[in-house]
Amino acid sequence: MPAASTKPIRVFLGKVGLDGHDRGLLTVARALQETGMEVVYGGVRKTAEQVARAAIQEDVEAVGLSSLSGAHSTHFAKVARLLSKLGRREILLFCGGIIPPGDHAALCRAGFARVFTPGATLADITQFIQETLRPARPVKLAGLDHIAIATHDLEKSLALFCGALGMRETGRETVPSQKVRTTFLEFKGTHLELLEADREGSPVENFLKTRGGGVHHVAFAVKNVPEAISQARAAGLTMIDVAPRPGARGKEVAFAHPTATHGTLMEFTAPKRQKQKQLTTNKRK
Ligand code: ZN
Repeated sequence: MPAASTKPIRVFLGKVGLDGHDRGLLTVARALQETGMEVVYGGVRKTAEQVARAAIQEDVEAVGLSSLSGAHSTHFAKVARLLSKLGRREILLFCGGIIPPGDHAALCRAGFARVFTPGATLADITQFIQETLRPARPVKLAGLDHIAIATHDLEKSLALFCGALGMRETGRETVPSQKVRTTFLEFKGTHLELLEADREGSPVENFLKTRGGGVHHVAFAVKNVPEAISQARAAGLTMIDVAPRPGARGKEVAFAHPTATHGTLMEFTAPKRQKQKQLTTNKRK
């Protein structure tokens, strides 16, 4: 899937024909919005042409149609035909409501990927859209960037790594966002990071108190931190950072919560991006 897959899923929801009840559909719209999708609400009593045109104009990735009258299969199939004719066959189609079982096969043949029956839950619907349009994939890692070690005394640790182990110090700095003093040691193309608490309340201070020092986190290089955040979340990791924060060496970083990684704090790191991409906001209702 191209890089565009991290953008929010945009879904059109509407009703075709004379059925004017949309309380159920509004509930679906709210449930989809709560998961971060953008919903274009088409409303009731639309023609197949209006729905197809709106879906294309609004550049949606999915169209969901609902029917409570049990006589809408022909309208739904018409929407599918029109979208296909207009060159947008790839738009994901699904429908729900009171649709006679005898009509399901014909709707599938018409291009509807799923017909939800009245027993379907909101979670079934959101999961179906999510899994079809944004299937979970592993986080794209570019390599191991560094292993960080927390220490009570940076100088003593440096004496060990640079003296006894012959590594080379490449840069020392204070990272205010993490309340730490840090230094990087280069060793045969990879790095160790030494961390010392800079201020009270530093997460490193807490780590030293509870664990007494040692491996603090493992950092993976990624190409793009925001992308890694969405990939990690889609893959089921809980992120401490839902947006990148400034890290050492002019990089940006994000941490995954250790409870989601069996105890190891994980960092995703990449060079700071030149331009911050604007977040897409939901302007339409
Ligand atoms: Zn680090």
